[in-house]
Amino acid sequence: MKIPARPKVILRSCRDYDPERIRTIIREGLEELGLRPFGRTLVKPNLVAAGPLFPYAYTRPEFGEGVLRALRDVGGSSMTELAAGERCGITVPTRVAMRESGWDAMLKKIDVKRYCFEEEQQVEIPLSHPQRLRDYLFTPEPVARADFFVNCPKFKAHPWTTVTFGCKAYIGIQDDRHRLIDHDHKLDEKIADLQHIIQPQFIAIDAITAGEGRMLTPTPFPLGMIIMGNSQVAFDAVCCNIIGVDARTVPHIRLSAEHGFGTLDLANIDVTGDVSLEEARARAKGFKVGLIRVEKYFEGTNITAYAGPPPEAEHGDYCWGGCPGAIEEAIEILRVFDKDTDRKMPRLHVVFGAYQGGIDARPGEKVIFIGDCANWKGELHGKPVAIENLYKDRSTLDPHTVRSQDIFAKLASAKGKLRGDVVRLEGCPVSVAEQVLALVSVSDVKNPYYDRENMLTFGRAYLGWKARVTLNKLQRKRYQQNGAFQGRGQAAPELA
Ligand code: SF4
Repeated sequence: MKIPARPKVILRSCRDYDPERIRTIIREGLEELGLRPFGRTLVKPNLVAAGPLFPYAYTRPEFGEGVLRALRDVGGSSMTELAAGERCGITVPTRVAMRESGWDAMLKKIDVKRYCFEEEQQVEIPLSHPQRLRDYLFTPEPVARADFFVNCPKFKAHPWTTVTFGCKAYIGIQDDRHRLIDHDHKLDEKIADLQHIIQPQFIAIDAITAGEGRMLTPTPFPLGMIIMGNSQVAFDAVCCNIIGVDARTVPHIRLSAEHGFGTLDLANIDVTGDVSLEEARARAKGFKVGLIRVEKYFEGTNITAYAGPPPEAEHGDYCWGGCPGAIEEAIEILRVFDKDTDRKMPRLHVVFGAYQGGIDARPGEKVIFIGDCANWKGELHGKPVAIENLYKDRSTLDPHTVRSQDIFAKLASAKGKLRGDVVRLEGCPVSVAEQVLALVSVSDVKNPYYDRENMLTFGRAYLGWKARVTLNKLQRKRYQQNGAFQGRGQAAPELA
């Protein structure tokens, strides 16, 4: 797909989640941009975490309904399929997020197909651009095959990447195994590489109630807008401008621009609609982004965090995309399930990266070194301690053979890993789920995986997911023998 030489971003006022009003606005947006959906049309919402416990974290189903109905209005018979697909926060089956968010019921009501990306065949996409981290990436088949791709993120802050608008939402176009690869201090580069898989012809963000401060548990911010565009990088640049952030200071957006996916220069973007940029900025005044280092984040709690640099010196003094951010998300999840999380958490010390300072652990206080790159030498509880750097170069990870560990296996092994006063959690990254399990293992905080209300839904969805993946494995051989789809493999597009 060619990126428009002069992209357009449309700012529209919309104060309520009224599907018919949203439908009208989206239809007018498609018409203004001269877009007509065709072939396999796929909508990707952001359903990272959904349901009543995470009410402001996801693209609302009313928004999705308006978008899907408008696509049908404009695309009509030129579309051979209209579908919605997503991979929510890993470990939890997307079936749960689809159901809890209300997207399942909405899709059924308007007769639109659903894809849970981790249940689909994963397709290898070759990369050839010079800045790539790897020579190929994997993405679910519905993404790789989409003819008309629509990105529908939620307007939110993000604690690791400042914001999560269009570009960042692409983390949801990989299944669990592939998503964790390079989800570390190279996260920004990974996001830029993901842009090469597919570019959306149309982006529409749910900014009716935006989410500030956090990603999973943001504070609702009534922005009252729908923003639409035809170039993802330009779109993100305008969204950044609205909240007073220069997109050039947001690495994953700047890198995506450097890869050729559009301009960051507002002078080269047409901004139209019934809300001016000035008015949008006035509406967003005071919007808080979430970038916060782990040491600062835990100040005033029972957890003391220490963070040294990740393995490669050129990437600064902090791993923004990996273990330190994951523990912030882990504690946010626990606070949702157990209001007494902070009170129940014992005095605890968590250490990341090549930290070289002192660790102020008193007798009986546990010290957890988190991540393969953690390394430290010193004395703890009166004994010498040497934590070795176990980091393996990313070139040793092969996306063809990498496996994700099952959540029930993680549940079974979590407690054993945490025995002793000084412990080490291995992994790069140590995922949010693993850190949730670690924190419940060392405290009396409720384990969300044992939450009675969720267990039935979770268990059913989990079994459905695993059954579908097993079926895929049986079908894969036939799929390969038939020489079916070999991957889109987009190079950085040329400007039109
Ligand atoms: S082990 Fe964790 S902190 Fe270290 S590089 Fe990997 S993701 Fe980052």
